[in-house]
Amino acid sequence: MRLLVLIVGLITAVECSAQNDAFFYERQKMVEVQLKNRGISNDMVLSAFQLVPRHEFVLPEYKKWSYADGPLPINEGQTISQPYVVAYMTEILELKRSDQVLEIGTGSGYQAAILAQLCDSVFTIELFEELSKSATKVFRKLEYNNIYSRVGDGYLGWPEKAPFDAIIVTCSPSHVPEPLQEQLAEGGSMIIPVGAGNIQKLVLLQKKKGKIRKKDVLPVRFVPMLDERGAKY
Ligand code: SAH
Repeated sequence: MRLLVLIVGLITAVECSAQNDAFFYERQKMVEVQLKNRGISNDMVLSAFQLVPRHEFVLPEYKKWSYADGPLPINEGQTISQPYVVAYMTEILELKRSDQVLEIGTGSGYQAAILAQLCDSVFTIELFEELSKSATKVFRKLEYNNIYSRVGDGYLGWPEKAPFDAIIVTCSPSHVPEPLQEQLAEGGSMIIPVGAGNIQKLVLLQKKKGKIRKKDVLPVRFVPMLDERGAKY
């Protein structure tokens, strides 16, 4: 009898959350097909993707594609990255609950929200004020109290808050910014798309005993990192 009550209770809980969120099953499918089937295996990372409502970060006209297998346009000619790429970059950082993470390129805020599920605090910098404002609104709505956003040029990092256990860069410069390497903590990792034009590679950097080791991990395509006058780095 008790077991039956428990099962009914569980089913009701799942149905309630599905009713509260019209995209629950689409999100589950995204996790299975786009992430798990392609090799994302960290359970904490997978459950973060099951929890974060991607549709809240997408423009109204693209809502129905919120869980599609690709990037989507956001304001200022920028994009929210493909879920798989967000997951890949997150998993490779091997985050710990106590970590303090720096993100360059807040954009929609989706990547920051995923990180906020997995670590202690997320510091995120966005060049365009409008994007930073709308992402901050979503963070408040969803009660992410461990995300700190700032408008500015992320090439320079956030020296007042350094060092960071992990750094994730979601726009592409032609080289790894020196200030970001300096702001990486001992034992920390940085994932960054590096390259000119359409040819970019995701580079993983790890700081061990003060020395940086670099490894190319995946070919990718990101929007360019821009300076405050709009020129590409
Ligand atoms: N992480 C984002 C992806 C956004 S695309 C998401 O989950 O939606 C990359 C973002 O980097 C864009 O919003 C772009 O405006 C921003 N960007 C470009 N150059 C930048 C710079 N120098 N400093 C901070 N942000 C920058």
